[in-house]
Amino acid sequence: MATPVRIESDVVIVGSGIGGATTAFALAQKGVKTLVLERGERMPREPENWSPSEIFMKTRYKPNEKWVDEKGNEFVPGVHYFVGGNSKVYGASLPRFSRYDFGVIKHQEGISPAWPFTYDDLEPFYYKAEELYRVHGDAQNIYGNNRMTPFPYPAMKHEPYVEELGKRLVKAGVHPHSNSMGIDLGPGGKCIRCKTCDGFVCKLDAKSDAEVNALNPAIATGHVTLMTSVQVNRIVLTSDGKSVSHLEATRGDEALEIYGKNFVIAAGSVNTAALLLRSGVANSSDQVGRNFMMHNNSHIAAVDMRRKNDVTFQKTLSFTDWYLDGGKGYPLGAVQLIGKVQGIMMKSFAKHVPLPILNLVSDHSVEFVVMSEDLPHPDNRVTIDKNGAIKIARKSVGMKTHFELLRRAKKVLRKTGYQAIFRQPFDISMNSHQCGTTVAGNDPRTSVVDGYCRSHDHHNLYLIDGGFFPSSAAMNPALTIAAQALRVVEQSDLAKV
Ligand SMILES: Cc1cc2nc3c(=O)[nH]c(=O)nc-3n(C[C@H](O)[C@H](O)[C@H](O)COP(=O)(O)OP(=O)(O)OC[C@H]3O[C@@H](n4cnc5c(N)ncnc54)[C@H](O)[C@@H]3O)c2cc1C
Repeated sequence: MATPVRIESDVVIVGSGIGGATTAFALAQKGVKTLVLERGERMPREPENWSPSEIFMKTRYKPNEKWVDEKGNEFVPGVHYFVGGNSKVYGASLPRFSRYDFGVIKHQEGISPAWPFTYDDLEPFYYKAEELYRVHGDAQNIYGNNRMTPFPYPAMKHEPYVEELGKRLVKAGVHPHSNSMGIDLGPGGKCIRCKTCDGFVCKLDAKSDAEVNALNPAIATGHVTLMTSVQVNRIVLTSDGKSVSHLEATRGDEALEIYGKNFVIAAGSVNTAALLLRSGVANSSDQVGRNFMMHNNSHIAAVDMRRKNDVTFQKTLSFTDWYLDGGKGYPLGAVQLIGKVQGIMMKSFAKHVPLPILNLVSDHSVEFVVMSEDLPHPDNRVTIDKNGAIKIARKSVGMKTHFELLRRAKKVLRKTGYQAIFRQPFDISMNSHQCGTTVAGNDPRTSVVDGYCRSHDHHNLYLIDGGFFPSSAAMNPALTIAAQALRVVEQSDLAKV
């Protein structure tokens, strides 16, 4: 290969997902010269963005890449290598964690550890992140997420089917509330409330994502530059090993060396761990890759053949009655409506059921994600196998809790009149809520970064994606990643270059 091309910036960010793009946005506000390196390209705007068969059957936007599980079985991971990362296809459900999630919580099957900062430390940045990602909601203090201020945008209105479901859920004994949704809805907004939001790519830029809401405005300031199709392969340290010297990357056949004063790795928790392990960096604790988490999740479809579900935008309601305590002193988790599932989308799971039957079922079903906490364990771990592939060993911790939550949710749904409930458990390939692997903590022996996501080992290296989560809570992760990115830029030395 020819001599590598040398590139320089003050801050260099690897990855343009929620972590990387939000960090770039905050640095741009401070006028810091920032370079974002992204292995993917801009997501094309094309008819397939809204095609269920292209996305769910043909996995059009997933990479041509295989990871392996602990038994060596290959799987296609739930990652998306585009500008904006996974947020290009995510569900834009952007709730806060509970204030209790930041402390030690006793679970049925172990301990959810404390974070090195509190909910109150993050609270102002939660609000800023909600403004940035246009979060709509109205539920003030649910599951202990004590808000100091109302939501920046009003809650999305329920469609009649969901409105009525809410009333039936109340009669069945739970307290549904609006979902926190990141959408450009309202006067002058781009959202048309279509059924191709959750899991799809928004052709209208109306779903709040890392590219549209954070990276593009950052680039518009003139302080941030984006380079696409740049894959970072190695982090190179200075000769004393105390700091990062530069990154080695490739763009097609071209070799690049990227120099900076401060470096942010935000490649997604698994890819960040893999890059660190391949580089032999930030791992004096032997903690890099450990404590991989992804929630214990199930999708359920509740079917009532007497009631047609004519909803377009379904994802507007949750119930979190057992989030803090399921009645026996242990938390259980959250139950959240998801985007309306179409018959063809069920095919990816119910492969042998004829499509007309799936269409009939989906015309009469309503779908939820049942989400409970996946407790961290050092043996649940990302490593690099002998062939250089990413390997994830995982045995979920917390399944008793998950089954208890499922049992409760099903009981309530039966009370509201649903005749049949089908479940699709999430397997390792559905690792969309991946977190842990470079956990934050005060003790350098047991954690990889400090409370500001700075490596304990290298003073100019920050790791800002879901990797820093010491615990996974039982809520969607993106808003917490974004809030922490804003906090790191505001309160740490990252912007001091
Ligand atoms: C289908 C789906 C639905 C979801 N729904 C929700 C939801 O409703 N609410 C919620 O909160 N969360 C949701 N999530 C999860 C959410 O999308 C992620 O938690 C979040 O986007 C993670 O952001 P990140 O910055 O940590 O990582 P990523 O989004 O993974 O971004 C990492 C970026 O780094 C790039 N990259 C990786 N390696 C390299 C390298 N070596 N060199 C250069 N670039 C690299 C990648 O291409 C990518 O763009 C969903 C995810 C999926 C897949």
